[in-house]
Amino acid sequence: MMRSCRHASRRCKTKVYLDDLPRTSVVIVFHNEAWTTLLRTVHSVIDRSPRHLLEEIVLVDDASERDFLKRQLEQYVRKLEVPVRVIRMEQRSGLIRARLKGASISTGQVITFLDAHCECTTGWLEPLLARIKLDKKTVVCPIIDVISDDTFEYMAGSDMTYGGFNWKLNFRWYPVPQREMDRRKGDRTLPVRTPTMAGGLFSIDRDYFQEIGTYDAGMDIWGGENLEISFRIWQCGGTLEIVTCSHVGHVFRKATPYTFPGGTGQIINKNNRRLAEVWMDEFKNFFYIISPGVTKVDYGEISSRTSLRQRLQCKPFSWYLENVYPDSQIPRYYYSLGEIRNVETNQCLDNMARKENEKVGIFNCHGMGGNQVFSYTANKEIRTDDLCLDVSKLNGPVMMLKCHHLKGNQLWEYDPVKLSLVHVNSNQCLDKASEDDSQVPSVRDCTGSRSQQWLLRNVTLPEIF
Ligand code: UDP
Ligand code: MN
Repeated sequence: MMRSCRHASRRCKTKVYLDDLPRTSVVIVFHNEAWTTLLRTVHSVIDRSPRHLLEEIVLVDDASERDFLKRQLEQYVRKLEVPVRVIRMEQRSGLIRARLKGASISTGQVITFLDAHCECTTGWLEPLLARIKLDKKTVVCPIIDVISDDTFEYMAGSDMTYGGFNWKLNFRWYPVPQREMDRRKGDRTLPVRTPTMAGGLFSIDRDYFQEIGTYDAGMDIWGGENLEISFRIWQCGGTLEIVTCSHVGHVFRKATPYTFPGGTGQIINKNNRRLAEVWMDEFKNFFYIISPGVTKVDYGEISSRTSLRQRLQCKPFSWYLENVYPDSQIPRYYYSLGEIRNVETNQCLDNMARKENEKVGIFNCHGMGGNQVFSYTANKEIRTDDLCLDVSKLNGPVMMLKCHHLKGNQLWEYDPVKLSLVHVNSNQCLDKASEDDSQVPSVRDCTGSRSQQWLLRNVTLPEIF
């Protein structure tokens, strides 16, 4: 069915919302934002929100260096028909502390955060506020539509993807799983429970934001804060949803228009370490083993965050994996995590470019994580992130394919005595190389030879090993 990209599905249009929804402040932080995109955000909020639901707009300037964002901006917003306040960070603080500042001076019962390059669509706000009115521990995100950064073309976002993350703790979109479709009895206008949020656009009850510990103010500039608040919401008794009847456009930029003082990698790794140390328990190892370099990054003091976790009696990360994100790339139970080493050649399985549909390789073990990290899971798949070792023909090469959880060609039986890895479907053994190419591991008839023996290095040994 065709539908206009600026409107939610037809059945969303027939939904009726109460008049006495909680009022929201809209907090928009920016650093060196362009005039047009910033004002497009502000005007679309004003034009497309019912006036009685909009308390104010708070613009937080994170120490921008552009003249037009100073007096000119203040003069411009003064004549708008909704109160718009402009406040300034004294020094560059990053989006986390800028949002905290904006939230602290705002007054609405709900706080809605938006990036500074968004376009709200008609009807975006009511469905968000309605969920919060129903339960103030529900944190809600709109569907994020895509505004092209080349043409400003507007394209509807999908209601069939939700938020997750990979072993490197990058936020990623993944398909909404069948269990979530079933829970909603197939009604796509009902909110999707999402394991994580993208971060830029969401609404939260003001008191609840306080109660669960706002943001981690020890995080700098950008990154990690979206997973941090997502884990915290779920582990500490809240709910995180994508409200499929609410659409807001966002300009996805190919490059960041601003600098990361101290270096992009340093800052993101620091933030991710704080996230992993406070919330992920032993599962932080997936992050550390695939990117061993990050363990050198200093993450500062986290005691106020760990005591927050205790005070709120938040559940362990294993609970989150089991109950909120069972389709996670991080397995709840696993036998090994680390390299897979061939006994004859002393070389390691290596997924090379980490690409889908490519053959797995074998190279000298480098101990640097990355492409040589695999987990043999309790489901007996051998995976690295979202890719699984897969063989589809007799004597065939071993491919990296998206894990499908259906066993089939991705089911492996490891024998810790014989050290063999049997591909169950073909009843053949993983061998260091195929006949014709020494760099391509494949399955061969099992012979017990040393080229078919593998050591799975256990970096951590979970209880079921
Ligand atoms: N931002 C900020 N200070 C910073 C970095 C970012 O105020 O040091 C603002 C930025 O202007 C934007 C929001 O935070 O409004 C989110 O950043 P960005 O849009 O770059 O993140 P992305 O959408 O690329 O994830
Ligand atoms: Mn953005």
